[in-house]
Amino acid sequence: MQMSFLNDDFRTHKKYVDGVFKTKQEIIDELNKNGVKHIFKILSFGGGTQSSQLLEKCLRGEKNYDYDAVVMSDVGAEPDFIHKQVEWWQLRQKELGNTTPFIITQHNSMKKGIEEMLMRYISSECEYQRMQLPLYCNQVDENGEEVKGGLLPRQCTVDFKIIPVKQAARQLALKQLGLKPNQRMPKDVAFIIDIGFSYDEMRRINMYQSPQYKYMYLSYPLVEENLTTEDSIDFLKENNMPNKRSRCYLCPFNCDDKESGMDWAEIIEDEPLSFLKACFFDEQVRAVQRSGKKMLRSIPYFHYKRLPLSEVYAEDYHSLTQKFGEDLNEWKEEWEQFIAEKYKYVESKSV
Ligand code: SF4
Repeated sequence: MQMSFLNDDFRTHKKYVDGVFKTKQEIIDELNKNGVKHIFKILSFGGGTQSSQLLEKCLRGEKNYDYDAVVMSDVGAEPDFIHKQVEWWQLRQKELGNTTPFIITQHNSMKKGIEEMLMRYISSECEYQRMQLPLYCNQVDENGEEVKGGLLPRQCTVDFKIIPVKQAARQLALKQLGLKPNQRMPKDVAFIIDIGFSYDEMRRINMYQSPQYKYMYLSYPLVEENLTTEDSIDFLKENNMPNKRSRCYLCPFNCDDKESGMDWAEIIEDEPLSFLKACFFDEQVRAVQRSGKKMLRSIPYFHYKRLPLSEVYAEDYHSLTQKFGEDLNEWKEEWEQFIAEKYKYVESKSV
């Protein structure tokens, strides 16, 4: 049974009252009033829990969940269990005879996603400076001691998930309208993209109109139903559907709370090689910071304790290195070759 969040109603929430977001119907009414004739309805799918519940609503033919496309951006660092969940949903869609286009897209220029961004960051000298992950930082005080600093701005979600989804939706619409990929979107066309944020994630809602494309609007159907993340998980469990939470294997928001479904233990147990990759990136970003080649003054960590991952989970790290060290080296070599070929860094150092 689905529960509402502390019996609250989104309509009393400050963000709704202040107009930070609107309901899907309010957006539709506004667009109709402004003479918009074609509204493309898109589901931004992440392969995790909340957007899966939205997809299921679509597959069940529920009112307001009739999408023109389901679009997922592969950020290039999802655990395999998320790829398997995506395949499960694609199969279910097929079995139910639902023909909504299911598009998997990527970052425009870094097709291999976040791993590519990180490899590029650690392999280059000063050519590539952007660190898009919300890493925890320490600073060095006057005594040379590390003290707690802030968090780097989280830009990965926008760059690797949200923008690629919008770009793919735009291309789909242009094609359906018989227009060229670079053509301007006609004035009577708009998009509504459903985002699977829940009521308990209200802090993540900052807008209902896309800053990149003014004709794109964002709606939050689970919030409109006052549903929480837990509600979505319960719904999927009750229906025997895959229910692991979507995130990157190296996400700094991974924690130690097993109940959260966003824990390092799950990565260590289910994706040991991915855990070693995360440890590798963790060490490397600090090595790069120490080198002084990047404009990063603070000392970055992937773990919220601001300690090396290989120290926090030392026992697992050592036993998994014994088991999967060779695989990790192969993965590094493949990347080294890819980065050298694609970016042609003169002094491409070994990754
Ligand atoms: S899951 Fe974490 S690392 Fe991946 S895009 Fe989102 S915030 Fe960034």
